[in-house]
Amino acid sequence: MDRRHLSADTLVVGGGAAGIAAALTLAHQGLSVLLVERSSGLGGRAAGYACMATTRCRRCSACLVEDSALALRRLDGVEILLSTTIAAASRMADGYSVDVECGSTRSTWKVRGAILCTGFDAFDAAAKPLLGHGKLDGVVTTLELDRILKEAGDEGWSTQDGPPRRVAFVQCVGSRESREGRGYCSQVCCSAALRLAGKLAHLHPEVEITIFYIDLQLMARNVRSYHDELAGRIRFVQGVPGEIAAAPGGGLEVHHEDSGEGTSSTFDRIVLSVGMVPSPATEEIASLLGSRPGPYGFLEGGGPPVLAAGACTFPKDIPGSMDEAREAAARLATALRPARTVAGVDHG
Ligand SMILES: Cc1cc2nc3c(=O)[nH]c(=O)nc-3n(C[C@H](O)[C@H](O)[C@H](O)COP(=O)(O)OP(=O)(O)OC[C@H]3O[C@@H](n4cnc5c(N)ncnc54)[C@H](O)[C@@H]3O)c2cc1C
Ligand code: SF4
Ligand code: SF4
Repeated sequence: MDRRHLSADTLVVGGGAAGIAAALTLAHQGLSVLLVERSSGLGGRAAGYACMATTRCRRCSACLVEDSALALRRLDGVEILLSTTIAAASRMADGYSVDVECGSTRSTWKVRGAILCTGFDAFDAAAKPLLGHGKLDGVVTTLELDRILKEAGDEGWSTQDGPPRRVAFVQCVGSRESREGRGYCSQVCCSAALRLAGKLAHLHPEVEITIFYIDLQLMARNVRSYHDELAGRIRFVQGVPGEIAAAPGGGLEVHHEDSGEGTSSTFDRIVLSVGMVPSPATEEIASLLGSRPGPYGFLEGGGPPVLAAGACTFPKDIPGSMDEAREAAARLATALRPARTVAGVDHG
């Protein structure tokens, strides 16, 4: 990296699981990296996830991101700019000229290739007013529950009367809705709900947990066996309620089907399993660097000199995002290698 001329071999946009993995791979290949992250820290969404361990590790992968971020910070040849965004970019004969902006400070960097790792947005549960998020006390999203457990632990989840006794999870909120243009499965929310439910059951052996689902997406072997382990402890009900209302006697009431019969149940808390949607910021940055839109508004993976990886290309979990980012970084490194002279110096 040549700070006199502000140039780096590569640019990574986004410092979540994917961006960190991409930057690590590029640096290990001897390429200098400029990593631009718009928030004030590395880790992306995973930085808000609580450890899901119960009697043992439940392989949620949150700590994988933390460990990788630490490793990245120790590497030479990686410039990490936090609270920074890309303000402008233009194509040059041998790469891109990129304006990065941190508050009112702007600087121009020259890079030869880029990997976009700008992640996803969570579906906005308020867009489904019948589910009561933001209106009814006790309706939270999986991301909110994760953050509560991470930041305030068990106490953050309990009320002055103690921990909620009846908790329900509602799956597929914002996903698998063809008519809304979101016909895809978000891949990760069934395992996330299962781990959260397992964590609550571990913390509060007396809690009654119900999971309302369409069909459970539990591809990973460790998740499937966790489901089997929890099967006697958690009530799984096929069919998701379309409406949550305040129950006359207190709590939250839902009408649903159970074994083909219409019935209603009351809960103290309801957790909405929000899906993953493309982030509008991704579209903006992608158009600056000439990356192409893919299915449902996510990005195409592309090819050198500009690639995209992680959840910005389609919903996937942390290990999947990191694998895709490593692969993209390896492709970019291969493409840039012939023109490279000495690692970490200005090529301009
Ligand atoms: C409810 C829920 C629970 C989940 N739980 C798990 C779990 O337990 N285990 C698991 O493996 N996966 C889980 N996932 C999936 C996991 O969150 C993703 O796989 C992972 O976050 C993807 O990493 P990423 O780096 O691609 O994106 P992100 O984590 O979204 O990171 C993207 C980063 O890019 C930055 N960024 C965006 N735009 C710009 C820009 N223009 N300029 C600069 N920076 C920018 C963002 O600030 C962010 O830091 C869960 C997902 C959801 C929705
Ligand atoms: S993978 Fe998840 S459950 Fe296991 S130790 Fe790390 S954060 Fe905890
Ligand atoms: S992972 Fe589960 S909750 Fe998420 S969209 Fe797919 S089936 Fe629905």
